[in-house]
Amino acid sequence: MRTTMVIILFAANLLPSMVMAESDYVVQINADQPRRAQVTASIEPGQHGLCFIRSAEDTGLTHGWTTFIHKLSVTDPDGRSVNAAYDGEGCWRLNSTGRVTVSYTMLLLHDKFPNMPGDDELAYAGDWGQFWTGRALFIEGKPSAAVTVEFLLPPDWAVTAPWPSAGNTGLIFAPTDTDAVFDSGLMLGKHESLKFSRGNAVIHMGFNGAGPRARRAELREIFDRSLGSFTDLHAAPTVGDLAVFLGKGRVLGGGVIGNTISMLVVDEVPDTLMPMLAYIVIHEVFHLWNANLNYANQEDMYWFTEGFAEYFSHFELLQQGILEGKTLLGRFEERAGKYAAAAGQLSMAEAGQKKLDHYNLIYSGGMMATLALDMHILKTSNGRHRMADVMPALYTRFGVETEVPLDLDTFAAVIEEQTGVDCSGILRRYVTGTEVLITAPLMEQLAGTL
Ligand SMILES: [Zn+2]
Repeated sequence: MRTTMVIILFAANLLPSMVMAESDYVVQINADQPRRAQVTASIEPGQHGLCFIRSAEDTGLTHGWTTFIHKLSVTDPDGRSVNAAYDGEGCWRLNSTGRVTVSYTMLLLHDKFPNMPGDDELAYAGDWGQFWTGRALFIEGKPSAAVTVEFLLPPDWAVTAPWPSAGNTGLIFAPTDTDAVFDSGLMLGKHESLKFSRGNAVIHMGFNGAGPRARRAELREIFDRSLGSFTDLHAAPTVGDLAVFLGKGRVLGGGVIGNTISMLVVDEVPDTLMPMLAYIVIHEVFHLWNANLNYANQEDMYWFTEGFAEYFSHFELLQQGILEGKTLLGRFEERAGKYAAAAGQLSMAEAGQKKLDHYNLIYSGGMMATLALDMHILKTSNGRHRMADVMPALYTRFGVETEVPLDLDTFAAVIEEQTGVDCSGILRRYVTGTEVLITAPLMEQLAGTL
């Protein structure tokens, strides 16, 4: 208790005078208020003031992340109150452009709303502590490359986050920039955590709930192996530190936020659930490469983001011995059926605008389109090439920093350049068109490759 007091005083003294860092956040949580976080930020307002706007539509709520804010106040460096007017769209407009101190309480009630898409990409709490995505917890001002985040927590709580530590208390962090603050997840509490390295990256894992905790060694292994396989497939590692969180939630599912993978599992994890869990972990790991490419229009390419993740995840399950060849073919048959039932009305490219409403067309259809492309490349190149040969070029050519964005034309051009095979007809007929793929011969061809 005494240590906490000292830190509070230290932080209070430090905030106004800290000139080294441009954005500082202090998060305080009291054990007797397990669904509250008190945040104090020392930041400069951005173009729109002080905002909570990143992926706010993910909440499914009219007022997005700001729904959960309680008592926001702003003061200038002399401690004078600054007028902050809410603009109705996630931002507070200030009549000052200089550095301010913002204080607010964030209520963690996201998982109490029944209709939200996924708590794993928002926030959730349990008797173990709290999980937040950075965008749900931290207010955003001017972009900054010098950020510190400090936590004042109950004595038996710890922090797991994909950020480098500052000092050795385990409670102060120096994220590389503001994007790393908002596009990350963090777990605070009495959860289980582990840390390991792969190449230059440090990988932080956090587990809460009996099921994920009991399976942590296996999950680490599955995660690490798939990270290795997909690094080889893309001939490139991921960039920066990574975090993986597995917690107990209402529904089984997972998502990727920047370099964070967040997954929820219902109750216990029996042996029979492990292949499903492994499949979700591997699918999300694949997104660490393809979710952030430079897309001309991400919606048109969702069939690709999800379809490729689905396709390559299945081969990774096979590689790790989690699925046998026969089971894999069975899974493909099942997905072909789902695709056939959904296809013919709307094109995969168009369906991306509402990807969750057209789940089978995007996920199963995307997987079948990938199968068609892979088998077409294999056949036309007389067995010399597969889609895997295109992945390194796809990743380097359409990385975030590149000028030419990824769309169906540039995608077809890279395939042709790497394999000599023209796939534009397949894309035109089955991805932008509504023609329905005949999957039986593709399945037969796939069986011959296993
Ligand atoms: Zn996905």
